[in-house]
Amino acid sequence: MLRRTTTSLASSCSSHSSCLSKKQSFVFSAISSLKQQEQHRLASSSQKSPLFDFTEDETMMKSLVQDFVKHNMPWELVHKMDVESKLDPALKDRLFEVGLMGIEIPEEYGGSGQSFTSSIIAIEELAKCDPAISVIVDVQNTLVNNLLSNFGTKQQKDKYLTLLASKGLGSFCLSEASSGSDAFALKTRADVKSDGSYVLNGTKCWITSSQEASFYIVMANTDFSKGYKGITAFLVDRENPGLKIGKKEDKLGIRASSTCEVILEDCVVGPDSILGGVGKGYKLAIETLNEGRIGIAAQMVGLAQGVFDYTIPYLKSRKQFNTAIADFQGMEFQYARAAVEIEAARLMVYNAARMKEAGQNFTKQAAMAKYYSSEVAGNVATKCIEWLGGVGFTKEFCAEKFYRDCIIGKIYEGTSNINLQTIAKFIKKEYN
Ligand SMILES: Cc1cc2nc3c(=O)[nH]c(=O)nc-3n(C[C@H](O)[C@H](O)[C@H](O)COP(=O)(O)OP(=O)(O)OC[C@H]3O[C@@H](n4cnc5c(N)ncnc54)[C@H](O)[C@@H]3O)c2cc1C
Repeated sequence: MLRRTTTSLASSCSSHSSCLSKKQSFVFSAISSLKQQEQHRLASSSQKSPLFDFTEDETMMKSLVQDFVKHNMPWELVHKMDVESKLDPALKDRLFEVGLMGIEIPEEYGGSGQSFTSSIIAIEELAKCDPAISVIVDVQNTLVNNLLSNFGTKQQKDKYLTLLASKGLGSFCLSEASSGSDAFALKTRADVKSDGSYVLNGTKCWITSSQEASFYIVMANTDFSKGYKGITAFLVDRENPGLKIGKKEDKLGIRASSTCEVILEDCVVGPDSILGGVGKGYKLAIETLNEGRIGIAAQMVGLAQGVFDYTIPYLKSRKQFNTAIADFQGMEFQYARAAVEIEAARLMVYNAARMKEAGQNFTKQAAMAKYYSSEVAGNVATKCIEWLGGVGFTKEFCAEKFYRDCIIGKIYEGTSNINLQTIAKFIKKEYN
């Protein structure tokens, strides 16, 4: 409306070129004032846009994933992968084919060149059906791809981003048996040889996608005397004879996602396999895990929504005392409260994602989103089992799987206590 007014003023001015200079300057200042008003309106309207306002690409991502889930992830397959504790190879291939493994990877490397929020949307949508597939996509996009995109050299990007976008999974190897929450107390060592290459020795634990991965980002210390400042990230190919995949964990939940030990025994890598520089591993890991936490928070929001979506229709159709269970006020208040919690968690996730995209410090918001979303997922999954009654307690239906899958949200990429610790640090600083 305002734009049309500006245009008509401008054209009326050009058609009256003989008008007095005073009048001219009045018209130009009116145009300029209208332009300023319009810019202000556009700026303020975008500031005021709801967090659920997605770009066209992000909206397309949401429908693409919903469509993908509908056609490629039937309950029978999700159930089979859970029982067998194994990712279906054909499903993995399909995830690559539709571009879900390289969402933010630039198109020049074969990726989809989308926003961080697009990754978050994909993770959330996948978790509504299977949180295990969601975490595979999450680790690939928010940890591995971003590490390479943000810190890789041209050669590393050419080799690994192309692989990550087309067919190869990557793993992020930080945790060890004696260093989980205290991750930077890691013991894996990297000793430099006279020719500049490094020898890695150590065992990484609980590594997501390690069974299927094509390469591993391994955190090792090149100089223990420097403490965490000696930690360095190395790119280690699966074919490296010094790398072995150890014990595979038999887990409570997210069972289609493999979690194994990664053993490094005299594993020799060239200096060109260092990611981000010697001694920069701590910075790389901290920065990337902050982004990763928003991803896990999205996984938990998707999980909560998934189990809720499954449960409510049942409550509406199941009758007791000649009344649909959903119509008892005792139930209404409970599921309304759960819906509020899911909505609040989702807003926290989208806000943290948008803050990251705006280049703002989002560490506190990411920790809050991850902490809160995993609480909500736990509450909602527990309640849904209760509301479904005996049916919810059986393995035949998916509610039980969501219930098992939600527990991990409070453990990986910073336990709930560790996230609360981060939030508390910010609060103390803010009240200095
Ligand atoms: C399925 C799965 C997948 C994983 N994937 C990966 C992966 O891909 N890459 C990777 O590197 N790691 C991965 N991990 C490891 C994961 O990040 C760690 O399990 C997590 O960081 C917690 O470490 P921990 O298990 O040693 O627990 P601990 O650190 O031993 O913690 C045990 C308990 O103590 C509490 N605690 C510890 N320190 C404090 C403190 N200072 N204050 C208060 N409470 C505290 C914790 O909150 C927790 O409740 C994965 C783990 C699992 C289970």
